[in-house]
Amino acid sequence: MSSLPEKGWHLLREILEEITNPELRTKLEVIKKAYGVLYQEYSRDYLTGLYNRRSFEENLEKAVELARREESSFTLLLLDLDHFKKINDTYGHDFGDQVLAAVGKTILKTIRKIDFPARYGGEEFAVILPGTGSYGGLGVARRLKEALEALRFDTPDGKIGITVSIGGAVFRSNHRLGPRELIKEVDRLLYSAKRLGRRTIVFKPEIEPQAEGLSLEERALLFGKK
Ligand code: GH3
Ligand code: MG
Ligand code: MG
Repeated sequence: MSSLPEKGWHLLREILEEITNPELRTKLEVIKKAYGVLYQEYSRDYLTGLYNRRSFEENLEKAVELARREESSFTLLLLDLDHFKKINDTYGHDFGDQVLAAVGKTILKTIRKIDFPARYGGEEFAVILPGTGSYGGLGVARRLKEALEALRFDTPDGKIGITVSIGGAVFRSNHRLGPRELIKEVDRLLYSAKRLGRRTIVFKPEIEPQAEGLSLEERALLFGKK
């Protein structure tokens, strides 16, 4: 399922391939460049350079469809900066913006090219990790937390750092929940991380597919563990 802008982009490229008139081609090349700039604005968050919430939601839908079709898994992480309001209130909104931009850069540097990083809200970020189960997903969550908490920012009071809370879960092809429920689930895990005192990761590992709906005794019989 492609979005309308994606369809438009493919059509434009198809038309360009068919047109031989050089004058018309030059004009269409300009339109193609303009389209690229507009698409960037449409899909990215200006401050951090990450994808915006709209692209994130589109991509999450695709990730769910792909996982179901190819019987693969992916991990969804939600990150929220701790006590960010205090940073803004103490050092100003511009300083807060600089922190958010640095967070965006660091997230980009820490993940792989095929991962999908987005600014989900004000000081909240989301990362989709295609083909990644609980071992890899938790590893990325830890790496992200470490990298973000290693950042240092100059203030009149000296250098300061930030801390981050992370919720994460693995989506498997046999899961019945859709993208909305998945976000809600991971948001609940993020909320648990906050309640546990922040600066924490709460990660829901994969559930053995056959184990869903089984009692603890049945699980123990099947898997030899509780
Ligand atoms: P918690 O640990 O519970 O997440 O506390 P918090 O202070 O981070 O959370 P809260 O939701 O109370 O505040 C979020 C703050 O993020 C409030 C707002 O000033 C700030 N914020 C949101 N968007 C932006 C932005 O684009 N720029 C700046 N500078 N600040 C922003
Ligand atoms: Mg916060
Ligand atoms: Mg928040």
